[in-house]
Amino acid sequence: MDEPGIFRPPVPANEPVRSYAPGSPERASLQRRLAEMAGERIEMPLVIGGREVRNGRAVPAVMPHDTAHALGTVCWAGPGEMGRAIDAARRAWPEWSRTPWTDRAAVFLRAADLLAGPWRDTLNAATMLGQSKTAHQAEIDAACELCDFLRFNVAYASRMYAEQPESAPGSWNRMEYRPLEGFVLAVTPFNFTSIAGNLPTAPALMGATVVWKPSESAPYAAHHLMRLLQAAGLPDGVINLVHGPGSELVPAALAHPDLAGVHFTGSTTVFRSIWSQVGENIGSYRNFPRLVGETGGKDFIVAHASAEPEALLTAIVRGSFEYQGQKCSAASRVFVPDTLWAGLRERLREQVEAIPMGDVADFRNFMGAVINERAFRRHEEAIAEARSRPGHTVLAGGQVDAARGWFVRPTVVVTEDWDSRLLKEELFGPIVTVAVYPEREYEPMLERVDRSVPYGLTGAVFATDRRAIRTALDRLRYAAGNVYVNDKPTGAVVGQQPFGGSRASGTNDKAGSLWNLARWVTPRVIKETFVPDRDYRYPYMG
Ligand code: NAD
Repeated sequence: MDEPGIFRPPVPANEPVRSYAPGSPERASLQRRLAEMAGERIEMPLVIGGREVRNGRAVPAVMPHDTAHALGTVCWAGPGEMGRAIDAARRAWPEWSRTPWTDRAAVFLRAADLLAGPWRDTLNAATMLGQSKTAHQAEIDAACELCDFLRFNVAYASRMYAEQPESAPGSWNRMEYRPLEGFVLAVTPFNFTSIAGNLPTAPALMGATVVWKPSESAPYAAHHLMRLLQAAGLPDGVINLVHGPGSELVPAALAHPDLAGVHFTGSTTVFRSIWSQVGENIGSYRNFPRLVGETGGKDFIVAHASAEPEALLTAIVRGSFEYQGQKCSAASRVFVPDTLWAGLRERLREQVEAIPMGDVADFRNFMGAVINERAFRRHEEAIAEARSRPGHTVLAGGQVDAARGWFVRPTVVVTEDWDSRLLKEELFGPIVTVAVYPEREYEPMLERVDRSVPYGLTGAVFATDRRAIRTALDRLRYAAGNVYVNDKPTGAVVGQQPFGGSRASGTNDKAGSLWNLARWVTPRVIKETFVPDRDYRYPYMG
């Protein structure tokens, strides 16, 4: 059916963040839902062509902060089921890719409103229980950011469609933003429910059909998200959910000739391996697949001698330790001038030692557990290294405890060793390393911040001196795709700070923006001439 109108979608606004303060209705409601869901044991099947698929391979999903507590069992697919999911996406493509865009948009706008309303507690509770986020961290991720992705993307799509070429007299040029031909593979990380939602829905909004491989460590939120999308009216086969190990399932999808794109967020190593496999298969695809990957980081805070100590302190604590430092944007290296450090050191130690950590269902906690045993061991090893290596001091934290869950105390390491591994490698946990520099060596310090890591994701500059701010922004021009002045390097908001970095941090296509959506379409230009010429000879030939 044709669309008899040029429709304008609702103007998006950021979903307001609820406080969950004591006595608030939202707190009571979320606590009820948490208790309900923690009391259930559910099955998390694959969803292929709209149908739930189970096989004999059921793996338990546990809470990171209470590893004896299983939330249910997840059905893990094998390459055969990956093939069935691709077939389902291909079968859904002819209809979905021709569905009027307003109908596609309405599905995702309805999903956003369901999430903001009746599904809010379910997705927040799932993110708290399955990924060990506090109520606040779940709210800004699973509820608000995902609502924002869904609503803003619709507005961006409409802006893109309105972008049309000029037409000379006698003709009409039209740009048709065709959905990619084939299927898009969305491979999502454990740390954000909003990213898990955005990576499959952004290409689907643009008319592509999708196979979605969520993280093995976050199947619970993925399960509830898929149910929410179905409740919103997503037609069968448009997004197919395939749980299971990435190393087994992803290569099977990358080998398919109809692979039209990969929408990935996760570690740099995995994205590089995906890119290599696509390279190896390049002769076998019908199209050149679009590769969009947002990957790792080693995000910095640099302080100038003119920085306000109180603001810097708060940024270090929040920027490094919220969600246990498991944000791609989390600060993990901090550079402070000696003159400022003297007054900061003890207060930082005291604040970090006092951070409450534990079960996220206890709302007094600021931190929960890290995601799994592999992460726990990685942090344990880094802390042991900080304790034993010359030139390193553990200023705060350093304790780990796996008795009940994967708990790692927020840890501040101070190092004099500018080549320390802790200043260079992404650990992706609650460990921040501070390097103190002589105040007069501000510019050499900036050079080292820029050169010493392969990443370029986020960073923050603290200074009140305008010249120092300008110098940092200039010297660190490619060191971060999202840079903050006098603010922590985390907490990007859709529509306000489009997110992504370059160098080893990804393709920088800015999630939740028009530039990202542009990767999921392949435009066709139609020129129509109203009165075509009827003589091949040009006037100059006369
Ligand atoms: P990960 O790379 O371990 O996993 C991400 C996804 O890749 C998962 O779905 C996983 O199953 C899959 N995968 C794992 N091994 C694979 C393999 N060999 N082949 C194919 N697929 C495979 O990452 P994670 O631990 O889930 O997330 C943390 C990482 O994500 C960090 O490096 C972090 O910086 C990054 N991250 C980046 C951003 C960003 O916007 N730049 C956002 C969130 C997370």
